[in-house]
Amino acid sequence: MDDMTLIPEHATTQGTLPRRTFAIISHPDAGKTTLTEKLLLFGGAIHEAGMVKARRERRNTRSDWMAIERQRGISVTSSVMTFTWHDVVFNLLDTPGHQDFSEDTYRTLTAVDAAVMVIDAARGIEAQTLKLFEVCRLRDIPIITFINKIDREGQDPFTLLDEIASTLALDVCPMVWPIGMGGLFRGCWNIAEHRPIGRVSPEGEVFAPVTVPPEQMAEVQDAIELTGAYPAFDETAFRAGHLTPVLFGSALKDYGVVELLAMLSQFAPAPTTQRAEPHPVAASDPSVTGFVFKVQANMDPNHRDRIAFTRICSGRFQRGMKLFHVRAGKTMAIQAPIFFFARDRSLAEEAWPGDIIGIPNHGSLRVGDTLTEGEPLRFTGIPSFAPEILRRIILADPMRAKQLRRALEDLAEEGVAQIFRPMLGADWIVGVVGALQLDVLAARIDTEYKIPIRFEASPYTTARWITSTDPKRLKDFIDANQSTMGLDRDDSPVFLARDTWSLRYAQERAPEIHFSATHETS
Ligand code: GDP
Repeated sequence: MDDMTLIPEHATTQGTLPRRTFAIISHPDAGKTTLTEKLLLFGGAIHEAGMVKARRERRNTRSDWMAIERQRGISVTSSVMTFTWHDVVFNLLDTPGHQDFSEDTYRTLTAVDAAVMVIDAARGIEAQTLKLFEVCRLRDIPIITFINKIDREGQDPFTLLDEIASTLALDVCPMVWPIGMGGLFRGCWNIAEHRPIGRVSPEGEVFAPVTVPPEQMAEVQDAIELTGAYPAFDETAFRAGHLTPVLFGSALKDYGVVELLAMLSQFAPAPTTQRAEPHPVAASDPSVTGFVFKVQANMDPNHRDRIAFTRICSGRFQRGMKLFHVRAGKTMAIQAPIFFFARDRSLAEEAWPGDIIGIPNHGSLRVGDTLTEGEPLRFTGIPSFAPEILRRIILADPMRAKQLRRALEDLAEEGVAQIFRPMLGADWIVGVVGALQLDVLAARIDTEYKIPIRFEASPYTTARWITSTDPKRLKDFIDANQSTMGLDRDDSPVFLARDTWSLRYAQERAPEIHFSATHETS
């Protein structure tokens, strides 16, 4: 790893500080990158604006398949950024910002305890915000809303609040109010503390609040009085994901950023209890546990090693520890775990619940895998999703079937695509949730494995994992439907449906078979 630097102080001074592990969800262009950058600046993790983008660009030049990301100006992969502010360690998990829902995004959200939803004041809730919000709701992740770009002309604040409340069926509680927007923008008002908020620069300079003409101030006061109609801030409702505190701000002009950090410090949950079988795992449990929520191939396409992004859920992890890889039934020594900072990585000497470490490996760790100190636990709730696009892979050179299989298995392990082997016929079927995943898959098979392939339409449009309490009935169903059956990479049977009509028909004819659109490996 070329930019690896050893920063041992991190381990020794930060171990006991509280953790806040969160993600930012937004529609492209709402200001996620700008806000991320400001948070990192305030946290002292970077020193000049423009570094987050610069890092992305630098990263892109390292591997060819990232060219897709560059061409489309989007971020395909997610990463982790750690920074400290007022004695709290923040682990910010970057979610891909592109329009296609990808499994990667969902899985990243399985590893956070809270989310910040960034909304463009002029545009309100957009498609991608809504999708990501729904994922947060599935897991009851508490959300802080940041309505950005109030220094520009935007929609009326009440319209925005009502839109959030009605579209997301969520109580809204404005905490910071804009003093004017666009040309009339003068700053913000802290509603609870009854005071104007001046701009605070990332370097800590506090600028005096701008004087507001009395007429405008009267209007703002009237509006704030009307906000009394919204429910008061309630920490329990927030923690349960039923209420979102709302801040109006400008990431670009440094308004509302400090308030956002303060809200995260004060109210966002500390590392929470994680669902697992046979019992949930509390962050306070003394023995080390963690789960892999993302696997990423090394940026260097010449090396096939990969990094398993692992959330520590309990215990105090120390470098060199031997952890039990529950699915494989094997113990592995974690010799070179990695911490991620804004720009650098370092060896992780120690990690605490809520922290994310990267574990280099050669394919042994998969998304969803659990690591423990020996207990056969399994973290749950990290599913695969039924693909919405299915394609047949045609290999130009039949002699390379074995290499293709290897490549597909590797990429499936990373979650780039799902792979299915039809019971009849020889060609692999790949399934993806968003069309962009197909481009990534094709580009990576080409640049990393140098195997010429093309996609062809497949007769199937969706897939369902099938199970039954009665093994004989399951077998009969599979035998009777061989032409539309396949196996996933774990050999779990999958019904490949030609269209929704045939799926419904099969379901009606076989009520003893359970068809599932999500699947968790055990
Ligand atoms: P992302 O796609 O969500 O990461 O959005 P970016 O952070 O890249 O921002 C998209 C555009 O909006 C950029 O041109 C930013 O400079 C601009 N922008 C972001 N935040 C603000 C803001 O608070 N005010 C204004 N006026 N522009 C902003």
